[in-house]
Amino acid sequence: MKNIVIFGAPGSGKGTQSDNLIKHYGLFHISTGDVLRDHIKRGTELGQTAKGYIDQGQLIPDDLMISILAQVLDDNRDAAQQGVIFDGFPRTIAQAQALEQLLADRGTAIDAVVGLEVPQDELIKRILLRGKMSGRADDNEETAGKRLEVYHKQTSPLKDYYEQQGKYHAIDGMGTIEEIFDRIREQLD
Ligand code: AMP
Repeated sequence: MKNIVIFGAPGSGKGTQSDNLIKHYGLFHISTGDVLRDHIKRGTELGQTAKGYIDQGQLIPDDLMISILAQVLDDNRDAAQQGVIFDGFPRTIAQAQALEQLLADRGTAIDAVVGLEVPQDELIKRILLRGKMSGRADDNEETAGKRLEVYHKQTSPLKDYYEQQGKYHAIDGMGTIEEIFDRIREQLD
């Protein structure tokens, strides 16, 4: 069984490389951003709460986010047995600790963290391009800047956290989609 965290700043290519990982390794994909956007689309109460944070480029509070993730894991218990790609979670140390506990309770653990490393100016370019292509509301210049700030303050400390556990694999996130995936595969295999 493989449980992989795909890690990196907004615009680093987590979603794109998750698609490759799913195809290649047959893992179950959990993107917390996708889960939240689905709630917003369906107009649920959770969606309304989440939208307030997402539109401001802020993180959903840890307690709420952790309970959402636990629910997704429970709702997909069978599919998750084969291993999960965690995309966009954890984003804080508290989330990483909670994930460890959630997985331990289910008799499993994180095996590897794939960190996509991309320079800041390229991240902004990619986010704005994605905004144009997909119409994603938080992919505009103002919110992108805030999300990158939040990433540096709250999420990037996770790199040290997973390095200390010997699980962090730095991947150069520049190049073609295929080149980047080859680097990921080399590390994971
Ligand atoms: P993403 O699609 O992963 O870029 O997530 C889009 C937005 O959803 C983020 O900017 C956050 O507002 C929210 N979000 C997604 N995952 C998390 C998480 N693990 N913790 C807190 N907020 C999250």
